Amino acid sequence: MTPIQVLHLIKTKKIEYVDCRFMDFPGLWQHVMYPAKDLVQESFVEGFGFDGSAVRGWEAINEEDKIIVPVSDTAQIDPFMKAKTLAMICDVKDPVTKKRFSRDPRSVARKAEAYLRDSEVADEARFGPELEFFVFDRVRFDQGINYGIYEVDSVEGIWNRGKDDDGNKGYQVRQREGYFPCAPIDTLIDMRCEMVSMLSEAGIKVMEHHHEVATGGQAEIDLGAMGLTDMADAIMFAKHYIKNIAAKHGKTATFMPKPLFGDNGSGMHTHLSLWKGGENLMNGHHYGGLSKLGVWAIGGILKHTNSLCAFTNPTTNSYKRLVPGFEAPVNVTYSSRNRTATIRIPQYSNDPLRKRLEFRCPDSSCNPYLAFAATTMAMIDGIKNQIEPGEPMDKPMETLLPEEQMLIDQVPRDLSDALTALEEDHAYLLQGNVFTEDVIRYWIKYKREMEIGALSTRPHPYEFCMYFDN
Ligand code: GLN
Ligand code: MG
Ligand code: MG
Ligand code: MG
Repeated sequence: MTPIQVLHLIKTKKIEYVDCRFMDFPGLWQHVMYPAKDLVQESFVEGFGFDGSAVRGWEAINEEDKIIVPVSDTAQIDPFMKAKTLAMICDVKDPVTKKRFSRDPRSVARKAEAYLRDSEVADEARFGPELEFFVFDRVRFDQGINYGIYEVDSVEGIWNRGKDDDGNKGYQVRQREGYFPCAPIDTLIDMRCEMVSMLSEAGIKVMEHHHEVATGGQAEIDLGAMGLTDMADAIMFAKHYIKNIAAKHGKTATFMPKPLFGDNGSGMHTHLSLWKGGENLMNGHHYGGLSKLGVWAIGGILKHTNSLCAFTNPTTNSYKRLVPGFEAPVNVTYSSRNRTATIRIPQYSNDPLRKRLEFRCPDSSCNPYLAFAATTMAMIDGIKNQIEPGEPMDKPMETLLPEEQMLIDQVPRDLSDALTALEEDHAYLLQGNVFTEDVIRYWIKYKREMEIGALSTRPHPYEFCMYFDN
């Protein structure tokens, strides 16, 4: 939609407010609302002024005054507001120079797209994320129910298990068998359908949706592939829809990677392809039906997996998912079948247009603008420097001899390890000034102080289980 079309829509649909949304540094949508009459054609250049100092991750910067500039292409009528509201995603810019703010995640994403084109590797990288999330009853989340203190209930669920759903209470998802029994065991069908229909109406293509493995309410909605920034925008809209529809039903949707001890976590497996002149550059005659370029893209991702995880798996909780036994990736390797590998090459189809890598590490606690930009940079590094990924790992992991297993690198154990890896390995991200030293440094500082530090100084409920009676 052009600015003129947006202004026309506001008139014809009698829109009362425009809701300007932007991303904070860690990855949560922020918004400011303006009376719709205040949006004029110049607003798409001049933007609206706001105080950037209050935004997480930006406060240390001296020039706090910023403008948010709505991007007309992203306009969506928000169906969850009582007042008629048109939402638009904004770029964050300097009020005087009108330059993009370097810590605006959307600016990093845009630069990564430009760098990919300028380096002539491809015209476009496409991303197809699988959004996994849990739907819980609205209960207090801080009562220690779910830290594995009460062995059975931590998994079987006091929270949401068929308590107030319609249908036969005798039909419950057996432990870790949520993938794929029909109704009435799958109690989330209607809610998921509502989510998917509304996303489709909003122009966000959904490939499929289903219940996920975990007991009770784990769901998955897979989005159709799009370019980097468009997909990051779409993910933000999708999470907004999913959370608001769950709330409408009196439930809570969470994208936290590992909310339940002892059950599967929620990932955001991301399907990756590179395109030039309408051709899928991943397709070829090498391993898994990949091109040489696809093999090198794997080489780049595997070389940088540990530092990449600081963006694709950026929370302390992320690493409670990346453990053996729950289909989450733990081995830094690639395979056409092994689901414990960080990269899989799906073999569902021989269609050259569908050839892709599935990067299984990411989870939805990431800031998708930064996570996708970093992933793109790792692929470019692999392709430019023709990095070979070594041999694939097709044997089931359980059959490996200890000495074979020792040769396979593991994903970072925790956020701290991932940040240290990023500190040591980020030259590939600085190419083309896509990530700046400031962005990297501040990301590490923010995560260490505001998340790792904040958590480590607090008594944890499971410490009560282990130590209370000492
Ligand atoms: N949810 C799992 C993960 O954490 C994967 C399981 C699946 O998608 N089948 O990656
Ligand atoms: Mg899936
Ligand atoms: Mg899944
Ligand atoms: Mg998958």
